[in-house]
Amino acid sequence: MDCLFCKIIKGDIPSSKVYENEYVYAFRDINPQAPVHILVVPKVHISSVDEINAENSALVAKIFEAIPEIAKAEGLDGGYRVISNCGADACQSVKHLHFHILGGAQLGERMG
Ligand code: AMP
Ligand code: ZN
Repeated sequence: MDCLFCKIIKGDIPSSKVYENEYVYAFRDINPQAPVHILVVPKVHISSVDEINAENSALVAKIFEAIPEIAKAEGLDGGYRVISNCGADACQSVKHLHFHILGGAQLGERMG
């Protein structure tokens, strides 16, 4: 499958890795929109939030177990935002489920 993030997980495309375990891979966004901008993805290809179901939701739990660890390692003591864009209206550009962690500065109040 021609998926950018699957290639990053495999190591075929370089990335700035910040965290990895059996289920989860996290790396710095190439076009950061905050001082800290990290993408957290499942190693298994899931297209978007819209494809989460009872069979694969345990992987999503693994992601959300990793997020506080990553935030702590990045020193995001003041808080952070977790976002997943899903589908065209939300401007999802990479069709592999990913959660943005944004932090390191006071973020804006608007989200949409
Ligand atoms: P989204 O628009 O929610 O689908 O987010 C996709 C994100 O992937 C964007 O924030 C991009 O900057 C980021 N991105 C695209 N290509 C790469 C790459 N090769 N390495 C790291 N981040 C990337
Ligand atoms: Zn993929």
